[in-house]
Amino acid sequence: MFYRAVIFLLIIIFIVEEILLLKRFLNRNFRKKEQLLVRIDELEKELNPLKKNIDALEKQMSEHFFFYDLMRKISPFLNKKELFKVFSEEIKYLGEVEAVEFSRPDNESKYLQFVFGDEINSLYVKTDSKKIIGHQDLLRKLLELCIERINLYDRFQQLSIYDTLTETYNRRYLVMRFIEEFERAQKFSLKLSFIMIDVDNFKKINDTYGHLVGDAVLKEIAKIIKQNIREIDSLARFGGEEFSLILPETDKMSAIVVGERIRSKVSQQIIKAFDETLSATISAGVSSFPQNTLYSDVLMETADKALYQAKISGRNKVCWF
Ligand code: GH3
Ligand code: MG
Ligand code: MG
Repeated sequence: MFYRAVIFLLIIIFIVEEILLLKRFLNRNFRKKEQLLVRIDELEKELNPLKKNIDALEKQMSEHFFFYDLMRKISPFLNKKELFKVFSEEIKYLGEVEAVEFSRPDNESKYLQFVFGDEINSLYVKTDSKKIIGHQDLLRKLLELCIERINLYDRFQQLSIYDTLTETYNRRYLVMRFIEEFERAQKFSLKLSFIMIDVDNFKKINDTYGHLVGDAVLKEIAKIIKQNIREIDSLARFGGEEFSLILPETDKMSAIVVGERIRSKVSQQIIKAFDETLSATISAGVSSFPQNTLYSDVLMETADKALYQAKISGRNKVCWF
């Protein structure tokens, strides 16, 4: 009986000890859990501003991407109308746009204005969007860059077809136009005339007055020719002191009249260049399709031969075959 009591007591002691141990273990873990919860709380507090920063960065990045994308979309255009059209479509992704006008609207003050050089090239955007209003300077900059590119392209195009001294077409462009006009004349059975013009004794003008005066004479003669031809005619400086003229839908008689009128006007013109006053004359050779030839290269050659004829028969003349 005694032994049983001892064993029972020992078991009780053992169980109590185990319970105490378990309790201690649980206590320890509970404290750990508490500590972890506090730490999680702290970390969450630290995370909040970071989340806000990430949100702000994401917003900033999506705006940057928007502007990058906008630039990528609008920069290939080489025409202002197309550029404005695409630009006005694209900014709608940045904010609500009520209206876009390409000419000055009545209630102008309610619009954001994007001016490019002159009022004609303005774009008016009506919007309450804070994003668009806030970024208007950047939007203006992007558009300005594109406009500058278009202007440079236009200038380049002009330079590549124009003779800068006389402000007439250059030889390359004239030959291109000549082929086009010749094909059109053939296709629609139209008349076409070609005139070669050469300034008489131009070397003497240069030798007497100098090259600068010579240049001014070329300019003046080009001006006189331009004043005596139609919109649809094409005048080019063919080289040196030689000009050529394409007269679409013009028969030989009419072309001779044009050549004669130009010759007469040039010879009557008093040219003032720097401190010099002088006059000049021109010789011209006329050829016509289909009267002279059915071939484009022969048409040019014939005008050249007629010009030679005018030169050898005394200059200040218009000749033809
Ligand atoms: P012709 O009546 O037979 O045509 O005689 P010309 O003196 O006009 O012809 P020539 O071919 O002997 O001389 C042409 C001159 O034109 C020679 C060249 O130096 C000059 N010239 C060519 N281009 C220019 C230019 O851009 N400016 C000036 N000032 N002179 C030029
Ligand atoms: Mg000459
Ligand atoms: Mg010549």
